[in-house]
Amino acid sequence: MQFNDDAELDASQVEDVGGSGGGIGGGTIAVGGGGLALVGIVLYFLLGNFTGGGGQVQLPLSLDQLPVGQQADDQRLAQECRTGADANRRDECALVASINSIQGYWGDQFQRSGQKYQAAPTKFFRGAVNTACGGATSDVGPFYCPADADVYIDLDFFKELQTRFGAQGGRFVEAYVLAHEYGHHVQNLLGTNSKVDPRQTGPTSGAVRLELQADCYAGVWANHATTVPTRSGKPLIQEISADDVRRALDAAGRIGDDYIQARLGGGRVDESKFTHGSSAQREKWFTTGLRTGNPNACNTFDPKVNLG
Ligand SMILES: [Zn+2]
Repeated sequence: MQFNDDAELDASQVEDVGGSGGGIGGGTIAVGGGGLALVGIVLYFLLGNFTGGGGQVQLPLSLDQLPVGQQADDQRLAQECRTGADANRRDECALVASINSIQGYWGDQFQRSGQKYQAAPTKFFRGAVNTACGGATSDVGPFYCPADADVYIDLDFFKELQTRFGAQGGRFVEAYVLAHEYGHHVQNLLGTNSKVDPRQTGPTSGAVRLELQADCYAGVWANHATTVPTRSGKPLIQEISADDVRRALDAAGRIGDDYIQARLGGGRVDESKFTHGSSAQREKWFTTGLRTGNPNACNTFDPKVNLG
Protein backbone atom coordinates (compact mmCIF):
# COMPACT_ATOMS: atom_id res chain seq x y z
CA MET A 1 0.00 0.00 0.00
CA GLN A 2 1.41 3.37 -1.04
CA PHE A 3 0.33 6.77 0.20
CA ASN A 4 0.41 9.93 -1.89
CA ASP A 5 3.50 11.77 -0.68
CA ASP A 6 1.93 15.21 -0.66
CA ALA A 7 -1.53 14.38 0.74
CA GLU A 8 -2.09 15.84 4.21
CA LEU A 9 -2.76 13.75 7.31
CA ASP A 10 -5.05 14.55 10.23
CA ALA A 11 -3.36 13.21 13.34
CA SER A 12 -6.18 14.51 15.54
CA GLN A 13 -8.10 11.29 14.75
CA VAL A 14 -5.56 9.34 16.80
CA GLU A 15 -4.77 9.68 20.49
CA ASP A 16 -1.85 8.03 22.14
CA VAL A 17 -3.00 7.20 25.66
CA GLY A 18 0.26 5.54 26.55
CA GLY A 19 0.76 2.68 28.88
CA SER A 20 -0.02 1.30 31.62
CA GLY A 21 -0.24 -1.91 33.50
CA GLY A 22 -3.30 -0.31 35.03
CA GLY A 23 -1.56 2.84 36.03
CA ILE A 24 -3.65 5.26 34.06
CA GLY A 25 -6.09 6.93 36.38
CA GLY A 26 -5.80 4.14 38.89
CA GLY A 27 -8.57 1.63 39.49
CA THR A 28 -8.62 -2.02 38.68
CA ILE A 29 -8.46 -3.44 35.24
CA ALA A 30 -11.25 -5.88 34.64
CA VAL A 31 -11.05 -8.16 31.68
CA GLY A 32 -13.59 -10.73 30.69
CA GLY A 33 -13.03 -13.71 28.51
CA GLY A 34 -10.25 -15.19 30.54
CA GLY A 35 -7.85 -17.94 29.67
CA LEU A 36 -6.01 -17.49 26.47
CA ALA A 37 -8.50 -14.78 25.50
CA LEU A 38 -9.46 -17.10 22.68
CA VAL A 39 -12.75 -15.47 22.04
CA GLY A 40 -11.66 -11.94 22.25
CA ILE A 41 -8.25 -12.36 20.86
CA VAL A 42 -8.83 -10.43 17.71
CA LEU A 43 -11.17 -7.68 16.74
CA TYR A 44 -12.95 -7.90 20.01
CA PHE A 45 -16.27 -6.25 20.11
CA LEU A 46 -18.86 -7.65 22.42
CA LEU A 47 -19.57 -5.39 25.31
CA GLY A 48 -21.05 -8.11 27.45
CA ASN A 49 -17.79 -9.85 28.18
CA PHE A 50 -16.02 -6.72 28.85
CA THR A 51 -16.68 -5.72 32.39
CA GLY A 52 -15.53 -8.97 33.93
CA GLY A 53 -17.03 -10.43 37.06
CA GLY A 54 -17.50 -7.15 38.81
CA GLY A 55 -19.56 -5.57 36.09
CA GLN A 56 -17.70 -2.44 36.92
CA VAL A 57 -17.77 0.26 34.32
CA GLN A 58 -15.05 2.80 34.35
CA LEU A 59 -15.49 6.09 32.64
CA PRO A 60 -12.92 7.18 30.14
CA LEU A 61 -10.49 9.75 31.31
CA SER A 62 -10.63 13.20 29.96
CA LEU A 63 -7.45 14.63 28.58
CA ASP A 64 -6.68 16.77 31.58
CA GLN A 65 -6.63 13.72 33.86
CA LEU A 66 -4.01 11.98 31.82
CA PRO A 67 -0.34 12.01 32.59
CA VAL A 68 1.58 14.86 31.06
CA GLY A 69 3.24 12.45 28.68
CA GLN A 70 0.07 11.88 26.74
CA GLN A 71 -0.40 15.32 25.36
CA ALA A 72 3.24 15.31 24.47
CA ASP A 73 2.65 12.05 22.59
CA ASP A 74 -0.33 13.44 20.72
CA GLN A 75 1.76 16.44 19.80
CA ARG A 76 4.50 14.12 18.67
CA LEU A 77 2.09 12.31 16.35
CA ALA A 78 0.79 15.62 15.01
CA GLN A 79 4.32 16.80 14.35
CA GLU A 80 5.65 13.60 12.88
CA CYS A 81 2.64 12.58 10.82
CA ARG A 82 1.85 15.48 8.51
CA THR A 83 1.87 14.04 5.00
CA GLY A 84 1.60 10.88 2.96
CA ALA A 85 5.40 10.93 2.70
CA ASP A 86 5.52 10.56 6.50
CA ALA A 87 3.04 7.67 6.22
CA ASN A 88 5.26 5.96 3.64
CA ARG A 89 8.19 6.31 6.03
CA ARG A 90 6.77 5.62 9.47
CA ASP A 91 4.48 2.85 10.67
CA GLU A 92 2.53 5.01 13.12
CA CYS A 93 1.90 7.63 10.46
CA ALA A 94 0.70 4.89 8.11
CA LEU A 95 -1.93 4.02 10.72
CA VAL A 96 -2.96 7.67 10.99
CA ALA A 97 -3.27 7.81 7.20
CA SER A 98 -5.35 4.61 7.05
CA ILE A 99 -7.67 5.89 9.78
CA ASN A 100 -8.09 9.17 7.89
CA SER A 101 -8.92 7.27 4.71
CA ILE A 102 -11.39 4.91 6.42
CA GLN A 103 -13.24 7.73 8.15
CA GLY A 104 -13.08 9.84 5.01
CA TYR A 105 -14.85 7.10 3.10
CA TRP A 106 -17.58 6.64 5.70
CA GLY A 107 -18.07 10.38 6.05
CA ASP A 108 -18.75 10.63 2.31
CA GLN A 109 -20.86 7.50 2.25
CA PHE A 110 -23.07 8.66 5.12
CA GLN A 111 -23.48 12.05 3.47
CA ARG A 112 -24.52 10.42 0.19
CA SER A 113 -27.24 8.55 2.02
CA GLY A 114 -28.41 11.66 3.87
CA GLN A 115 -26.93 10.70 7.23
CA LYS A 116 -24.29 12.21 9.41
CA TYR A 117 -21.12 10.31 10.20
CA GLN A 118 -19.58 11.06 13.58
CA ALA A 119 -15.83 10.63 13.56
CA ALA A 120 -14.38 8.28 16.19
CA PRO A 121 -10.83 8.47 17.44
CA THR A 122 -8.49 5.52 17.63
CA LYS A 123 -6.64 5.31 20.91
CA PHE A 124 -3.21 3.70 20.91
CA PHE A 125 -2.46 2.11 24.27
CA ARG A 126 0.20 -0.13 25.72
CA GLY A 127 -0.53 -2.96 28.12
CA ALA A 128 -3.88 -1.96 29.55
CA VAL A 129 -6.47 0.76 29.19
CA ASN A 130 -9.63 2.07 30.85
CA THR A 131 -12.65 2.55 28.61
CA ALA A 132 -16.35 3.26 29.02
CA CYS A 133 -16.79 -0.49 28.42
CA GLY A 134 -14.52 -1.30 31.38
CA GLY A 135 -10.84 -2.03 31.62
CA ALA A 136 -9.04 -4.07 29.00
CA THR A 137 -5.58 -5.45 28.45
CA SER A 138 -3.78 -6.10 25.20
CA ASP A 139 -4.91 -9.74 25.38
CA VAL A 140 -8.31 -8.91 23.95
CA GLY A 141 -6.78 -7.55 20.75
CA PRO A 142 -8.00 -4.43 18.98
CA PHE A 143 -11.57 -3.54 19.86
CA TYR A 144 -14.31 -0.98 19.51
CA CYS A 145 -16.17 0.26 22.57
CA PRO A 146 -19.71 1.36 21.64
CA ALA A 147 -20.19 3.22 24.94
CA ASP A 148 -17.47 5.77 24.22
CA ALA A 149 -17.38 5.17 20.46
CA ASP A 150 -13.62 4.80 20.40
CA VAL A 151 -11.38 2.25 18.69
CA TYR A 152 -8.61 0.87 20.91
CA ILE A 153 -5.45 -0.84 19.84
CA ASP A 154 -2.17 -1.86 21.42
CA LEU A 155 0.22 -1.57 18.51
CA ASP A 156 2.09 -4.67 19.68
CA PHE A 157 -0.91 -6.59 18.35
CA PHE A 158 0.42 -6.23 14.83
CA LYS A 159 3.66 -7.97 15.83
CA GLU A 160 1.65 -10.69 17.53
CA LEU A 161 -0.41 -11.20 14.40
CA GLN A 162 2.79 -12.28 12.73
CA THR A 163 4.62 -14.05 15.55
CA ARG A 164 1.70 -15.86 17.14
CA PHE A 165 -0.82 -16.21 14.33
CA GLY A 166 1.78 -16.58 11.60
CA ALA A 167 0.23 -13.90 9.41
CA GLN A 168 2.40 -12.17 6.85
CA GLY A 169 1.42 -8.72 8.04
CA GLY A 170 1.99 -5.42 6.29
CA ARG A 171 0.46 -1.99 6.25
CA PHE A 172 -2.65 -2.96 4.37
CA VAL A 173 -3.27 -5.79 6.84
CA GLU A 174 -3.08 -3.23 9.63
CA ALA A 175 -5.49 -1.02 7.73
CA TYR A 176 -7.87 -3.98 7.32
CA VAL A 177 -7.86 -4.56 11.09
CA LEU A 178 -8.64 -0.89 11.72
CA ALA A 179 -11.27 -0.81 8.97
CA HIS A 180 -12.95 -3.80 10.63
CA GLU A 181 -13.11 -1.89 13.93
CA TYR A 182 -14.50 1.17 12.17
CA GLY A 183 -17.04 -1.21 10.66
CA HIS A 184 -18.27 -1.70 14.22
CA HIS A 185 -18.43 2.06 14.66
CA VAL A 186 -20.60 2.28 11.54
CA GLN A 187 -22.83 -0.45 12.96
CA ASN A 188 -23.07 1.52 16.19
CA LEU A 189 -24.08 4.68 14.33
CA LEU A 190 -26.65 2.73 12.30
CA GLY A 191 -27.99 0.90 15.36
CA THR A 192 -27.16 -2.50 13.90
CA ASN A 193 -25.58 -3.87 17.04
CA SER A 194 -28.85 -3.52 18.92
CA LYS A 195 -30.06 -6.51 16.85
CA VAL A 196 -27.53 -8.73 18.54
CA ASP A 197 -27.71 -10.66 21.76
CA PRO A 198 -24.05 -10.81 22.81
CA ARG A 199 -24.66 -13.92 24.90
CA GLN A 200 -25.44 -16.00 21.85
CA THR A 201 -22.63 -17.67 19.95
CA GLY A 202 -22.47 -20.11 17.06
CA PRO A 203 -22.06 -20.02 13.29
CA THR A 204 -25.34 -18.19 12.55
CA SER A 205 -25.50 -16.09 15.72
CA GLY A 206 -25.97 -12.34 15.68
CA ALA A 207 -22.41 -11.98 16.99
CA VAL A 208 -21.00 -13.77 13.96
CA ARG A 209 -23.25 -11.79 11.58
CA LEU A 210 -22.02 -8.57 13.15
CA GLU A 211 -18.36 -9.57 12.78
CA LEU A 212 -18.73 -10.74 9.19
CA GLN A 213 -20.50 -7.51 8.32
CA ALA A 214 -17.59 -5.56 9.84
CA ASP A 215 -15.21 -7.57 7.63
CA CYS A 216 -17.40 -6.75 4.65
CA TYR A 217 -17.40 -3.05 5.54
CA ALA A 218 -13.59 -3.21 5.71
CA GLY A 219 -13.60 -4.59 2.17
CA VAL A 220 -16.00 -1.84 1.02
CA TRP A 221 -13.59 0.80 2.29
CA ALA A 222 -10.68 -0.98 0.56
CA ASN A 223 -12.61 -0.87 -2.72
CA HIS A 224 -12.82 2.92 -2.47
CA ALA A 225 -9.50 3.57 -0.71
CA THR A 226 -7.62 4.97 -3.69
CA THR A 227 -10.35 7.49 -4.51
CA VAL A 228 -11.31 8.83 -1.05
CA PRO A 229 -10.07 12.43 -1.07
CA THR A 230 -8.59 14.29 1.86
CA ARG A 231 -9.78 17.81 2.65
CA SER A 232 -7.56 19.26 -0.04
CA GLY A 233 -9.07 16.88 -2.58
CA LYS A 234 -6.16 14.48 -3.04
CA PRO A 235 -6.62 10.77 -2.44
CA LEU A 236 -4.47 9.69 0.46
CA ILE A 237 -3.86 6.18 -0.77
CA GLN A 238 -2.19 5.83 -4.12
CA GLU A 239 -2.13 2.11 -4.58
CA ILE A 240 -3.32 -1.14 -3.06
CA SER A 241 -1.56 -4.04 -4.73
CA ALA A 242 -2.70 -7.59 -5.38
CA ASP A 243 -0.11 -8.64 -2.81
CA ASP A 244 -1.72 -6.33 -0.23
CA VAL A 245 -5.08 -7.99 -0.81
CA ARG A 246 -3.53 -11.45 -0.61
CA ARG A 247 -1.96 -10.55 2.73
CA ALA A 248 -5.27 -9.22 4.07
CA LEU A 249 -6.99 -12.47 3.11
CA ASP A 250 -4.16 -14.39 4.75
CA ALA A 251 -4.74 -12.39 7.95
CA ALA A 252 -8.52 -12.87 7.77
CA GLY A 253 -7.89 -16.61 7.49
CA ARG A 254 -5.81 -16.62 10.64
CA ILE A 255 -8.30 -14.86 12.83
CA GLY A 256 -11.26 -17.09 11.99
CA ASP A 257 -12.74 -18.92 14.97
CA ASP A 258 -11.94 -22.37 13.55
CA TYR A 259 -8.33 -21.49 12.87
CA ILE A 260 -7.87 -19.99 16.32
CA GLN A 261 -9.57 -22.92 18.04
CA ALA A 262 -7.57 -25.49 16.08
CA ARG A 263 -4.16 -23.84 16.19
CA LEU A 264 -4.14 -21.86 19.39
CA GLY A 265 -6.87 -23.33 21.52
CA GLY A 266 -6.16 -27.00 21.90
CA GLY A 267 -7.04 -28.39 18.52
CA ARG A 268 -10.78 -28.98 18.71
CA VAL A 269 -13.15 -26.88 16.61
CA ASP A 270 -16.42 -26.12 18.38
CA GLU A 271 -18.77 -24.24 16.09
CA SER A 272 -21.21 -23.52 18.92
CA LYS A 273 -18.60 -21.18 20.40
CA PHE A 274 -18.03 -19.19 17.23
CA THR A 275 -18.20 -15.43 17.76
CA HIS A 276 -16.44 -14.04 14.69
CA GLY A 277 -17.01 -16.60 11.96
CA SER A 278 -14.78 -19.20 10.35
CA SER A 279 -11.69 -18.33 8.35
CA ALA A 280 -13.52 -19.07 5.10
CA GLN A 281 -16.44 -16.87 6.11
CA ARG A 282 -14.18 -13.99 7.06
CA GLU A 283 -12.36 -14.21 3.74
CA LYS A 284 -15.66 -14.44 1.89
CA TRP A 285 -17.16 -11.34 3.45
CA PHE A 286 -14.05 -9.21 3.18
CA THR A 287 -13.97 -10.19 -0.49
CA THR A 288 -17.67 -9.39 -0.92
CA GLY A 289 -17.07 -5.86 0.32
CA LEU A 290 -13.91 -5.46 -1.73
CA ARG A 291 -15.51 -6.66 -4.98
CA THR A 292 -18.76 -4.73 -4.72
CA GLY A 293 -17.69 -1.57 -2.89
CA ASN A 294 -21.28 -1.44 -1.73
CA PRO A 295 -22.24 -1.45 1.96
CA ASN A 296 -25.67 -2.81 1.02
CA ALA A 297 -23.96 -5.99 -0.18
CA CYS A 298 -22.90 -6.58 3.44
CA ASN A 299 -26.33 -7.99 4.25
CA THR A 300 -25.20 -10.58 6.76
CA PHE A 301 -28.40 -10.11 8.79
CA ASP A 302 -30.63 -11.10 5.87
CA PRO A 303 -32.20 -14.39 7.02
CA LYS A 304 -31.91 -15.76 3.49
CA VAL A 305 -28.26 -14.91 3.04
CA ASN A 306 -25.64 -17.60 2.65
CA LEU A 307 -23.09 -16.72 5.32
CA GLY A 308 -20.54 -19.02 3.68
ZN1 LIG B 1 -15.00 -7.29 15.33
